[in-house]
Amino acid sequence: MVQKYYDADADLSHLKGKTIAVIGYGSQGRGQALNLRDSGLDVIIGLRPGKSWDEAKKDGFSVLAVAEAVKKADLVQILLPDESQAAVFRSEIAQNLRKDASLVFSHGFNIHFGQIVPPETVNVFMVAPKGPGFMVRRTYTEGMGVPALIAVYQDVSGNARALALAYAKGIGATRAMVLETTFREETETDLFGEQAVLCGGITSLIRAGYETLVDAGYSPEMAYLEVLHETKLIIDLIYEGGFTKMRKYISNTAQYGDITRGPRVIGPESRMEMEEILSEIQNGTFAKEWILENMVGRPVFNALTRADEEHEIELVGAELRKDMPQFKNL
Ligand code: NDP
Ligand code: MG
Ligand code: MG
Repeated sequence: MVQKYYDADADLSHLKGKTIAVIGYGSQGRGQALNLRDSGLDVIIGLRPGKSWDEAKKDGFSVLAVAEAVKKADLVQILLPDESQAAVFRSEIAQNLRKDASLVFSHGFNIHFGQIVPPETVNVFMVAPKGPGFMVRRTYTEGMGVPALIAVYQDVSGNARALALAYAKGIGATRAMVLETTFREETETDLFGEQAVLCGGITSLIRAGYETLVDAGYSPEMAYLEVLHETKLIIDLIYEGGFTKMRKYISNTAQYGDITRGPRVIGPESRMEMEEILSEIQNGTFAKEWILENMVGRPVFNALTRADEEHEIELVGAELRKDMPQFKNL
């Protein structure tokens, strides 16, 4: 069984009197930094001049160039975009790390795929919240937190796990649940989850359903409400109580259609493709593709993103949401 940790298993005093440099102030950087500070810890921010720099200043942080923040830090949490981490590590972080410092990540990509090779003198561990940064912040202010994963890659000080748990407590994660994993497992499952199910799987499923209805002559607005808008209501029930709870709330007709037709939509062919996608993650094919894509200025990323933004479902949705009061403040 996987090891679970809560507040009582974590001791913030491992981080008391230490300086934590959060490098990057985007989705995760802002959420984690604000929570750590509210937990009574000393946080500084490492950045380049720009939008994030101004925001961190406005939030009352001491903001320094990345190299300067790293020099001052006992613990360096790298919250730059995954595709920028290796270059910034080489130019501004590696040579400025204190000998006894801890290098922390929220995703294992760069360590697991060998893009960052840390010096042997530092602890290397991960604290990876399983939710977007604004949720890390919002749940903390509500007295909760989002669950997180911890993993220890290099334990030089002998207390890397205790430091990881203390950090997890500082961002509020031990209030929810912390699981222990490895850099390999976190990296591979995170990539698979976002590609096959959470992001890639769901958007492709919704788009295919929408196109099937519209191509058959149904109105785009009907198709949108049926296959996109309603997904949230269903997902909320699944989130709270699994498939069983969701099925208690839908009609018997819907439930019969669900259990007999669902496996035809995601059948053996989709399963084979999922296995293929997983092996591309495991053998480094995906990592190599994404690293090279970034080196040549992201032509595929940009073209496919634009095509999806211009898809009818996005245009129809934007118009419909303007007339739906619940979206007025979003
Ligand atoms: P974002 O893209 O939201 O933020 C990146 C930050 O890094 C920005 O503040 C940006 O500042 C700064 N930055 C970018 N390039 C540089 C540079 N060359 N020098 C200095 N600062 C720079 O990142 P995320 O928060 O999404 O991701 C951070 C990490 O967290 C990743 O490892 C990701 O996998 C992980 N993670 C993310 C989750 C999420 O929900 N987003 C969930 C769990 C883990 P500027 O304004 O100057 O561009
Ligand atoms: Mg991810
Ligand atoms: Mg219905």
